[in-house]
Amino acid sequence: MTGEGNNTYLLAVDDGPATLIDAGVGHAQHLTDLAVALEDRHARLADVLVTHGHADHASGGEALALAHPGARFFKQPWPGQDEQYAVAWRPLADGDVALAGAEQLQVVATPGHSPDHLAFWHEGSRTMFTGDLVVLGTSVMIHASRGGDLSDYMRSLERVLALRPAVLLPAHGPRVTDPVKLLTAYLEHRRDRERQVMAALGSGHATVEAIADSIYHGLDAALMPAARENVRAHLEKLRVEERAFYDLDRWRL
Ligand SMILES: [Zn+2]
Repeated sequence: MTGEGNNTYLLAVDDGPATLIDAGVGHAQHLTDLAVALEDRHARLADVLVTHGHADHASGGEALALAHPGARFFKQPWPGQDEQYAVAWRPLADGDVALAGAEQLQVVATPGHSPDHLAFWHEGSRTMFTGDLVVLGTSVMIHASRGGDLSDYMRSLERVLALRPAVLLPAHGPRVTDPVKLLTAYLEHRRDRERQVMAALGSGHATVEAIADSIYHGLDAALMPAARENVRAHLEKLRVEERAFYDLDRWRL
């Protein structure tokens, strides 16, 4: 599910401290590339800011801590998830300011893809490091059964959109140079899908499977589990908003 792999971002000052955004997975080549990049600038790894606790972003913390004993590791706490990594996490929260070399990054809570998800905002360049908030060319999985929340996710998209960023730097895929267009399209897509889920409920489809089959008719069977997870996320959002109801194993309007 990581596509071409992960992006991590190194913000370094010559002869000074460096900040890494996301820890990756501890891949040997990543550790080597990081060491070379730091060496080139005579910089030292001071801080690692982790966007969220999913393994492809956080599990590399252990290898980084061994290779860079002075580094500090920050993320928003996610009890039950963070403990699986042997890292002395320091807490970050919405509104905090993190140092990145000579620059400051504002911490922006962007829950939805995961409950602990953070983005990092550089006001001067209107650049946001967005973790798994968006991936160019595809949509982002919201696992309702594993801490994902579509209502939160849509609010996070709206919040980032309101900042009118110039560039988004995601953890997967290329940089986003037209964030307003992408974020608007993401929101539109989810609203369209929600209308489809409502229509499916209206025509009597009462299970996740039946709703997914009616909306994603003809989809490659290998993709159906992801489609059902998406339907589940929409239903959960509608249930919280009291626009859909679930009883006796059946969904209804
Ligand atoms: Zn993730």
